[in-house]
Amino acid sequence: MHALVYHGPGQRSWEQVPDPELQLDTDVIVGVDAVTICGTDLHILKGDVPEFEVGRILGHEAVGTVEEVGKAVRGVVPGDRVLVSCIAGCGTCRFCREGRYGQCTQGGGWALGHTMDGVQAEYARVPFGDLSTHALPQNVSSESAVLLADILPTSYEVGVLNGRVQPGDCVVIVGGGPIGLAAVLTAKLFSPGRIVVVDPAEPRRAAAKKLGADVVVDAQPDEVAEVVASLTRGLGADVVMEAVGLPEPFELCTRLVRPGGRIANIGVHGVPATLHLEELWIKDVTITTGLVDTSTTPTLLRLLADQQIDPSPLITHRFALDEMMHAYDVFASPEDTGAMKVILERGAGQTGEQS
Ligand SMILES: [Zn+2]
Ligand SMILES: [Zn+2]
Repeated sequence: MHALVYHGPGQRSWEQVPDPELQLDTDVIVGVDAVTICGTDLHILKGDVPEFEVGRILGHEAVGTVEEVGKAVRGVVPGDRVLVSCIAGCGTCRFCREGRYGQCTQGGGWALGHTMDGVQAEYARVPFGDLSTHALPQNVSSESAVLLADILPTSYEVGVLNGRVQPGDCVVIVGGGPIGLAAVLTAKLFSPGRIVVVDPAEPRRAAAKKLGADVVVDAQPDEVAEVVASLTRGLGADVVMEAVGLPEPFELCTRLVRPGGRIANIGVHGVPATLHLEELWIKDVTITTGLVDTSTTPTLLRLLADQQIDPSPLITHRFALDEMMHAYDVFASPEDTGAMKVILERGAGQTGEQS
């Protein structure tokens, strides 16, 4: 089969590799129908994720068709169309029993495209197939479902639920990339009063507006603070989400929150940020961090099947699976291409066109 293989910082290739095989009784082999590229994959390619070994296949967000199941798998059978979650769970360790699959200690957690071969390939071995896959209703398209592999549950669990968004809240989302925009969609489930999206890029601010943000603002800290103050009678935002993963946006979040408010960090950070406790100690704020557990994926799937959420506007480009190298180029240059989420589908025509 073909797969996208990491060959050290800055080096990737779409190349011939052996087909995956069942290794454990709990494994499932899927034929990949639709797959996407994540900002995290770009971090890996830069060499920011040292545990990612040379020769490994990238990718952790896919929809596929079950080809083969291990002896212990009960929940899916060959032929089932499934969402492959970015997080796997053994189901028996302490964290899995609390629904915190992201912290699984027995080989689950973020395994695909991280500590084992990923899904940017024609076939993939999925660990703990019963918990790591979700059967898809017929009326759900593969390209919409693939957005539930990572960005929807991440924005919902780590942003909206950790930030405890309430009806009427002023919610500020710093960062208008795919995760920030998914946070707009999932925050709306709780009828906030105002959603403010902060991003320096005009196309991203426009996309945020289209997805339901009430106010969009450039990332100049003083300007943002002024806008948030004007929306909240000077108090500050009830919930602020960091969806960038850099010190400056995080520090901006701590400046924007009201006394008693919540800061939910979603961003993947590579360098230390300053926590201004000299200002925050007196403000009763709550700061949360988290890796997604994907424990809400069944809920999000029902909302998708019932057409209560529509993540499809996040998709900007569609490619055939074997256009992987080009799709990476497009995804890695959002300033030029306007790329948000790029979808690669098995059997799709050679398009590469912006939708
Ligand atoms: Zn991802
Ligand atoms: Zn576990």
